[in-house]
Amino acid sequence: MRLAGALLLLAVTFNAPADTATPGDYRYYKPPTHTLACVQVEWVKDETEAVKRCKGGWGCYYAPAGGQPGLLVAPRVRSFSDALRLHILGHEFLHALGAQHD
Ligand SMILES: [Zn+2]
Repeated sequence: MRLAGALLLLAVTFNAPADTATPGDYRYYKPPTHTLACVQVEWVKDETEAVKRCKGGWGCYYAPAGGQPGLLVAPRVRSFSDALRLHILGHEFLHALGAQHD
């Protein structure tokens, strides 16, 4: 089930291909290259739904297209202590800022 989206406008000191994410180690890491990203968030119910929506990943990011901001798809974060889902959200936002991995 798709839930409400939110618009994030965040400034950070760190641009962005779409891909999927699962917590894990990556051999290659290219740090973020952008300092600003405007991202629309699409919450999904849980990791199982994210895997379906994100072609196997627990979250994903789609670069801006057609005048629309980038789209970040992730399982809804349940609380500030929800480390796994915060990890997924942060991981995908790093992609919005240009970070890449293998
Ligand atoms: Zn990733």
